[in-house]
Amino acid sequence: MSESNGARVAIVTGAARGIGAATAIRLAQDGFAVAVLDLDEGSAKGTVEAIEAAGGRGLAVGADVSDAEQVQAAVDRIAAELGPPVVLVNNAGVLRDNMLFKMSDSDWDIVMNVHLRGAFLMTRAAQKHMIDAKWGRIINLSSTSALGNRGQANYSTAKAGLQGFTKTLAIELGKFGVTANAIAPGFIQTEMTKATAERVGIPFDDFIKGAASQIPVARVGQPEDIAHLASFFASEGAGFISGQVVYAAGGPKA
Ligand code: NAP
Repeated sequence: MSESNGARVAIVTGAARGIGAATAIRLAQDGFAVAVLDLDEGSAKGTVEAIEAAGGRGLAVGADVSDAEQVQAAVDRIAAELGPPVVLVNNAGVLRDNMLFKMSDSDWDIVMNVHLRGAFLMTRAAQKHMIDAKWGRIINLSSTSALGNRGQANYSTAKAGLQGFTKTLAIELGKFGVTANAIAPGFIQTEMTKATAERVGIPFDDFIKGAASQIPVARVGQPEDIAHLASFFASEGAGFISGQVVYAAGGPKA
């Protein structure tokens, strides 16, 4: 029996804040023991405190998802301290927006490394535990930007790449009881969209109002909107849904 007293274990990357934090808290409410992984272990502790305050079990883990050794060490530690991880939410992400002609080599490489290499390394390390358990759920954070977005040649490529990754995982891992699905959010109110507002010089409140005016449900998304969908994909009953991309954007278009 694992230290989590038999609870299934989930890992959420980039879970110190934003969509990742909301997803970690939601999965804990659903009964998972949750590893809250972020670059800095200290910054992940706030999410763990929120999980524990609500009666759940969490573990703060520091790791850079784009570093193979750190990823393996993190997954090994999670397996030892919480139990074998059977849910993985690849959520860690960064932006390095720029028009193509101004985009640097490092703008490209950092975005590919965190989103694509990060999801690859985390999934490769975690899948062993899912296959041993003959049960698993992999959830990858794509974006409406996968459909193309001005100033995001790097990010839109990575987010489209994650959709192909998801579909291939679904095909390879399905026979082991493991599903893989992608969530493609539209505008979600987080530090990431706040940073975009700052970069384009628009007060965040005005940026939110402008975005909401283009969204059929007449509001921007909140991290909990995405956590709800992640909760569904992680659930027992979602076992026949795999290789799908769900756009969660308050309407049918990006
Ligand atoms: P966020 O508030 O910027 O949070 C991202 C988290 O990921 C941060 O805590 C960050 O840590 C962490 N992180 C960055 N690089 C990492 C690395 N190499 N290893 C481990 N952790 C790392 O972002 P968010 O808005 O919640 O977005 C979460 C995910 O949803 C991302 O994949 C994003 O691309 C996607 N998404 C967001 C939106 C949106 O509108 N917000 C829309 C579509 C898709 P530090 O703070 O230490 O950098």
